[in-house]
Amino acid sequence: MEPLALGVMLAVGENPRDSLGKVRKLGAPTAQMGRPPEKYLAGEGREELKRTIDESGVEITAVFCGYEGESYADIPTVRRTVGLVPKEPRARRVKETKAIIDFARDIGVRDVCAHIGFVAEDRSDPDYDELVKVMRDICDHAAKGGQNFCLETGQETAEVLLQFIRDIDRDNLKVNFDPANMILYGSGEPIAALKMVGQYVVGVHCKDGKWPTEKDQLGHEMPLGQGDVGIDRFVATLKEIGYEGALTIEREISGEQQKKDIAAALKLLESLK
Ligand code: MG
Repeated sequence: MEPLALGVMLAVGENPRDSLGKVRKLGAPTAQMGRPPEKYLAGEGREELKRTIDESGVEITAVFCGYEGESYADIPTVRRTVGLVPKEPRARRVKETKAIIDFARDIGVRDVCAHIGFVAEDRSDPDYDELVKVMRDICDHAAKGGQNFCLETGQETAEVLLQFIRDIDRDNLKVNFDPANMILYGSGEPIAALKMVGQYVVGVHCKDGKWPTEKDQLGHEMPLGQGDVGIDRFVATLKEIGYEGALTIEREISGEQQKKDIAAALKLLESLK
């Protein structure tokens, strides 16, 4: 893959040939893949999916974990339901995460990413050390296959994220930087945050958004270039820090408007990179 290759988020769905065809049609050479349906994670299904990907010519740059029971409705709900932070589903989700890492390894993908939830700002929080241990366990599992585990940004400030990464202390712990999330969660100015965690960034989401205006609510996601990120500065900063990964467009709506917005985003990024 050439540095700053354009990409999109791919929802594999029930018909991977179809969904990969859509990526091709958009003209994106790379994609990050969301968690595929269970039947594609192992065995025959995985082999079939791998063949379909290979035939499509689309390079999969990362696989994203997602977990049953997650909701991004508002900030308290995210806190309660998303990622590896919630305790009740944690053991189950760790197991699933390892299965997704193995799946990614078997289809030849190095990076596996997840929103792990809101990391406690206070390191003396009784669960902080426990979460650090969980992350080490996941990273060590990924390391066996020469893979990285990447934290999606947004739910904490760059300072908290940086401290958390240092506490976990694993070379294959990386960052998938989503500048819009920093805004949507009100976690801090994205360009400054990117500079702070830049050395760990192996993937990015090109996504835009407006700051939240109400307590406990997320901000509003916008088409690329129409929010508060400053996409030109974002791409310029990626170049400045020597980032060589893909520019993966994420637009979290569906239907025709999503296609239009992604097509416009591809054009915009082509002009900036
Ligand atoms: Mg994202």
